[in-house]
Amino acid sequence: MSGRTPPETSAPEILRGPSGGRATSAPVAGDGTEPSIFELSVAGRRAWSFGATDVPEVDLTSAVGAEHLADAPPMLPEVSERDLVAHMTRLSSRNYSVDHGAYPLGSCTMKYNPKLCDTATTLPGFAAAHPAQPTDQIQGWMELLVGLEDFLCSVTGMHAATLQPAAGAAGELTGLLLMRAWHSARGRQRSKVLIPDSAHGTNPASVTLGGFDVVEVPSDARGLVDLDALRDLVDDDVAGLMLTNPNTLGLFERDIREIAAVLHDAGSLLYYDGANLNAILGVVRPGDMGFDIVHLNLHKTFAVPHGGGGPGAGPVAVSERLAPFLPGPRPEFDAQSGRFEWATPECSIGRVHGWHGNALALARSYAYILANGGDGLRRVADAAVLNARYLQERLRDVFDFPYDEPCMHEFVASAASLKSDCDVRAMDVAKRFIDEGFHPPTMYFPLIVDEALMVEPTETESPQTVEAMAVAFRRIVEEANDDGGAAARSAPRSTPVGRVDEVAAAKKLRLRWTPDDDPGNPTHSKE
Ligand SMILES: *Cc1c(COP(=O)(O)O)cnc(C)c1O
Repeated sequence: MSGRTPPETSAPEILRGPSGGRATSAPVAGDGTEPSIFELSVAGRRAWSFGATDVPEVDLTSAVGAEHLADAPPMLPEVSERDLVAHMTRLSSRNYSVDHGAYPLGSCTMKYNPKLCDTATTLPGFAAAHPAQPTDQIQGWMELLVGLEDFLCSVTGMHAATLQPAAGAAGELTGLLLMRAWHSARGRQRSKVLIPDSAHGTNPASVTLGGFDVVEVPSDARGLVDLDALRDLVDDDVAGLMLTNPNTLGLFERDIREIAAVLHDAGSLLYYDGANLNAILGVVRPGDMGFDIVHLNLHKTFAVPHGGGGPGAGPVAVSERLAPFLPGPRPEFDAQSGRFEWATPECSIGRVHGWHGNALALARSYAYILANGGDGLRRVADAAVLNARYLQERLRDVFDFPYDEPCMHEFVASAASLKSDCDVRAMDVAKRFIDEGFHPPTMYFPLIVDEALMVEPTETESPQTVEAMAVAFRRIVEEANDDGGAAARSAPRSTPVGRVDEVAAAKKLRLRWTPDDDPGNPTHSKE
């Protein structure tokens, strides 16, 4: 037939070009990149539909405060619900997470959290309660909080606890304020807090924020606190010592009894950084070692998801002499009325969080503790240490181990030899580990180990997964010996985004889209 137009080979004009939004129904756009949500935007599309409202419409331009209105509406992407869900789902599947697979990040236990604990927090009686409700309506919640405090005290060997702090660092600050209050009540002001050089970075930050000066205690050749150096540093201006145990080299401090004696003789307090309690659960207790203050990270040890800034929970447990200073109000059982009530300790340092902390995080931990029971928690510690020791043994001949002691829940290997032999650094090993299907381990921490690779397999991984990690590390080192390190230096190759410029990413951080990023798209123009 004549006059017939040729079949169309490209999209009609309306679907192309700046105003049309980018065509994408495929799981990944043709060129392998995911468009930004602004590129998917088409004027007039909506991802929601609201029912009719009986609230009268108000013309804001003539309302009080109209001078604060912007000249133009905000530039928001306009997408359908279907496109929005597909976009977000595609993005989410590009992220590695604890639910995807092993995440052997040393110093910050990142382990699988049982789904049972999710379920507990969705019970309407917990989730729908408001913290300002009268106590007779939330007796169950208060019983849970008291029960959790009791448990945390029995597992740490302490006398009382506060559940308010929202993270490990917040627990540290709380502990330091307790230290200050305790010394002040004795009529003295002390200015220094000692911290081993292997400590987690939050320790010195919290000390500074708490108004004390940081004094660093060196590690000795064993990677443990140097006792002689400690003795030289302790004087009557030392408020206390913050000790991480097992320390960040994954080693159990051997001289705790002596350390405690040195500090207590000088009238100083002992603080236990118990962020990684999975190493010692049910085996030893900080209270029995002479510690006065302990913080725990429920978002590491007790089944609260961790990362992205929270919400976490960093309860602080204290010995009897510090209990009167704890933050309040705290839930308490009043034997006379047979009810739970809120009470603030007599010399309380005040609140460290709104209401009662991240309460649903606390409910998760309570569920985790009940589900495991005492014997289950003891097995957590056994498996955490066994997995780490197994992996350390399997890597003994491929990495250096500058502090060659049997590890606890984590260990620190060094890639120093690999660097001098094949120009492959800890960073390259970690990046190549991504291509092996795992999350990379921690690198370059603690600072006292050259080319550090800090690994914690955690207790939640099976022996098969731990062995698979060992094989992956061994393959990376073998490959580097074969190819001079070329593959490792260009890793990762299996990810949507390859090797990034880490310095630029840290120094030129841009988290917000602006119209300048996509000037060609008129859905962002003012009409
Ligand atoms: C994670 C961690 C902290 C800090 O905890 P946050 O919840 O991240 O503030 C402190 N000390 C040690 C040893 C840790 O592993």
